[in-house]
Amino acid sequence: MQDCIFCKIIKKEIPCEKIYEDKNFLAFLDIEPVSFGHTLIIPKKHIVWMKDADDFTISEIFKLTKKLMLAIEKGLKCDFAQVSIVGEDVPHFHIHLIPRYFNDNLPRFPTKKYKDGESSEVARKIIQKIV
Ligand SMILES: [Zn+2]
Repeated sequence: MQDCIFCKIIKKEIPCEKIYEDKNFLAFLDIEPVSFGHTLIIPKKHIVWMKDADDFTISEIFKLTKKLMLAIEKGLKCDFAQVSIVGEDVPHFHIHLIPRYFNDNLPRFPTKKYKDGESSEVARKIIQKIV
């Protein structure tokens, strides 16, 4: 895709701090890290949303995510690596791997409270669409 910043990184038109590359995937440091070592893992094929990826891409990218998670935890001596898939910042499917520390005080997602019976209704809407 012409204007996609991640496709430009794949084509080496924009430099990156590469962590890993094979014929299907690229992993590199986020230039605006939540914490140092914050890594992005992307398929080389331009896919906008995770839901658009084929099963091979999904299984392989998660295997690679685990491999890099272990390297981040050992290499940076963090307590764990958070996996995050948001998908609206850059329109090219990517997985964030964020080195985390138990006392890093990073903000959590804001949460809501279900009213009585509301969670069953929400669950039902999801369950009936599982194919
Ligand atoms: Zn792209």
